[in-house]
Amino acid sequence: MKVVVVSGGVISGLGKGITTSSLGRLLKARGISVTIIKIDPYLNVDAGTMNPYQHGEVFVLDDGTEADLDLGNYERFLGQSLVGSHNLTTGKIYRSVIEKERRGDYLGNTVQIIPHVTGEIKRAIREVAQSTGAEVVLVEVGGTVGDIESMPFLEALRELSYELGEGQMAFVHTTLVPVVGPVGESKTKPTQHSVRELRAIGIRPTMIVARGPAPLSAEIKSKISLFCDVPPEAVISVPDQALIYEVPLVLEAQGVGAHLTKLLGLTGREPEYGPWKEFLDTHRKGEGSVEVAVVGKYTELRDAYLSHTEAFHHVQGRLGCAIHLSWYDAEDLPRDASAMQRLEASDAILVPGGFGARGVEGKVQAIELARTHGIPFLGVCYGFQMAAVEFARNVLALPKANTSEVDPHTPDPVVCLLEEQKTVGGLGGSMRLGSQKVSLSEESAVARVYGRTEIWERHRHRFEINPAYLDRFRAHGLQVTGRSSDGRVEVLELGEHPFFLGVQYHPEFLSRPESPHPLYVALVRAALARKEVPRPDAPTPSLA
Ligand code: GLN
Repeated sequence: MKVVVVSGGVISGLGKGITTSSLGRLLKARGISVTIIKIDPYLNVDAGTMNPYQHGEVFVLDDGTEADLDLGNYERFLGQSLVGSHNLTTGKIYRSVIEKERRGDYLGNTVQIIPHVTGEIKRAIREVAQSTGAEVVLVEVGGTVGDIESMPFLEALRELSYELGEGQMAFVHTTLVPVVGPVGESKTKPTQHSVRELRAIGIRPTMIVARGPAPLSAEIKSKISLFCDVPPEAVISVPDQALIYEVPLVLEAQGVGAHLTKLLGLTGREPEYGPWKEFLDTHRKGEGSVEVAVVGKYTELRDAYLSHTEAFHHVQGRLGCAIHLSWYDAEDLPRDASAMQRLEASDAILVPGGFGARGVEGKVQAIELARTHGIPFLGVCYGFQMAAVEFARNVLALPKANTSEVDPHTPDPVVCLLEEQKTVGGLGGSMRLGSQKVSLSEESAVARVYGRTEIWERHRHRFEINPAYLDRFRAHGLQVTGRSSDGRVEVLELGEHPFFLGVQYHPEFLSRPESPHPLYVALVRAALARKEVPRPDAPTPSLA
């Protein structure tokens, strides 16, 4: 068992997740099997109950775990699916220690942070190593070194490195090297302080990844090397990149892959980046421009829709057209005529998932625009449910139609609570979650997009389309073209429209750089096709 720990210093938000994912990619490119664990030092058992404004998107895994968004980065960079044991939180660790104590497993002992909590952390890490059989386990420690919350985790990792012995573990510390002053000087002091903090808890970093706006000069690298006690070739500069998927190559260019394998005593083949580089080359082309409008309610924090944004990058890397995302706050839309005009001019509209009443009327309005103006539309989860609400209101003439999530007393609950949800108590981990099979109708648009009729997609919802309205939907052109094994509505599509699809599941979680999700590719293709057709309301080009 070899372990690479990635910690962070100075500030949060340095891109530790991208660093960890990229290190994993470097090893994988050498044919070394890897896996990644994320440590989140908060007391929540999982990310499911957290507001996207605080922690960004909740990423759903195949097994239904509601995880930190970094798990999404790991899956995308490694091209591997992960499960819940790869996201450790303080809540999970404490819960199992307390359960063990109640069961009597520690009988006679005083249960303490050291050795019981740290022991539980080490056990969880070893278990992932064993169950995956990966040669290298990367462990990203969330938060910043020095935080009280992350202490038990760092202590556990220090103990683990002692137990595993020399050459089995590498500690990569990510820090900030800010550039300040009128002459733009790179400052190493924050890095020095943060490394001192790490050493105070008994961890000596083996590699420093310096983040910042500019590349580090050789002089700054050797300064960090001297002060922080790492060789100059282990001081790595990762300046901000336009695209996160460039980072593995930025690391590779500085010899990180070779250095890391040597540190861990591993032998790998020459690194292979074929499809990855192809993806980057096509992405860089970025010809023309397609504008996709995203109508959501967490638009101020882009991380809340991270997997959607990434999915569009994956499409750009496949189709080579520049995709521009315009963000619309669904709550403002009903009061903002100029935003509605801009929305009308966009090449495609995506309405992503969400919860609660805020912003739903704006989503319904955006969907109506897409439906009536032939604008390619993809509705995901809540966006799909709102498409049913819009259709019921405006086509079936049921003006009060709604989801019972927003209006429990609506006379027309076209979206209502899943049967099994009616008896569910708590909000944590209690939705319909994870990967489920969906059967698509032959001859449907959605089956053409996927190129098959059986798919597996990830879910996260409590409400579903009410089957009582399906006949009327069908009679007016809105067809059910995807169902779960137990008959729930998974896909709705509109005939007589260039591209109008709603899906109950979350395709964004399965899109990857080397294999963009077919629904996103199809949406962008439809948007490109729309751009080519002259619009009746477009101004006639003047020859003058
Ligand atoms: N709020 C809706 C439900 O619970 C949709 C959930 C979502 O978009 N993830 O069913």
